[in-house]
Amino acid sequence: MNILRGEPLARHTTFRIGGPAEIFAEPADLSEARELLRSARGAGQPVLILGAGSNLLVRDEGFPGLVLSTRRLDWLAAGEGGLSAGCGVRIPVLMGYVVKYGLGGLEFLAGIPGTLGGALVMNAGVVGREIGSAVRTVNVLDESLAERELAAGAAGFGYRSSSLAGYPLVAGVRLALTPRPPAAIRADIAGQVHRRRLTQPYGIPSAGSVFKNPPGDYAGRLIEAAGCKGWREGDALVSDRHANFIVNTGAASARQVLGLIERVRAAVRSRFGIELELEIKTV
Ligand SMILES: Cc1cc2nc3c(=O)[nH]c(=O)nc-3n(C[C@H](O)[C@H](O)[C@H](O)COP(=O)(O)OP(=O)(O)OC[C@H]3O[C@@H](n4cnc5c(N)ncnc54)[C@H](O)[C@@H]3O)c2cc1C
Repeated sequence: MNILRGEPLARHTTFRIGGPAEIFAEPADLSEARELLRSARGAGQPVLILGAGSNLLVRDEGFPGLVLSTRRLDWLAAGEGGLSAGCGVRIPVLMGYVVKYGLGGLEFLAGIPGTLGGALVMNAGVVGREIGSAVRTVNVLDESLAERELAAGAAGFGYRSSSLAGYPLVAGVRLALTPRPPAAIRADIAGQVHRRRLTQPYGIPSAGSVFKNPPGDYAGRLIEAAGCKGWREGDALVSDRHANFIVNTGAASARQVLGLIERVRAAVRSRFGIELELEIKTV
């Protein structure tokens, strides 16, 4: 198993921001993951489970404990009426797989750069579709670090949230999918990626949407109307392309991003009286 000390987390987040992890480990299977969690617990160390780091803002001071990367927990198997997968499977890899096996129902996830584990915890999706709606069962490690299978109804899926965040590890998932011609799946995926390229800052480090959409409105619309597009703190910039994205145009620090977040929040609050809630997780 790879265990590193002082690994810069900027290397493992899509924002390219984040100080060092005291301990950084990439278990190869669930029993290694369980051992790591057990020894962190024994040593009283805090734990951060890291997927693709695409929804995270890690502070410049880093993380004073165990960062467990799920990168190698990436098994995938097509089964009756769907597929089973490990939490470390990346969405782009998953998209290739559903095309290959002609499994329809997840096309809307195309272009989301996370892992399945992160997507489940966040109930990732687009307007009108979320991954939770395709879940049959989720496998977790529970408080005693035993593996448990939860029915979808027990996962508490809500808007960009779930009750899965309360478990030490989301290990894997069974998804219900429907047979569909690969060419049709491929075309939908390409359409989805194309739309993202037109509406989002593409290829510039970010963590996706910074704020959740408030009920009945869009965070991006409110931020733009409050005049925040183009605001900057050092190399952190409110994107000109999509106002709900903050991008790292060079060597932005977490402190700069947090400063920008507070300025944007204050502007929306004073203009509309709406308190924006963070979608990204700060660590
Ligand atoms: C360009 C861009 C576009 C995006 N577009 C979208 C979009 O359209 N819709 C959307 O919903 N999101 C979007 N996102 C945000 C992000 O990709 C999703 O939230 C994604 O599901 C996060 O997955 P991750 O593996 O990167 O999770 P991480 O960022 O690594 O982690 C997110 C949270 O989940 C926890 N976690 C991760 N894996 C596990 C696990 N196995 N067990 C327990 N806890 C775990 C982490 O501890 C953390 O609290 C976008 C991000 C970017 C950069």
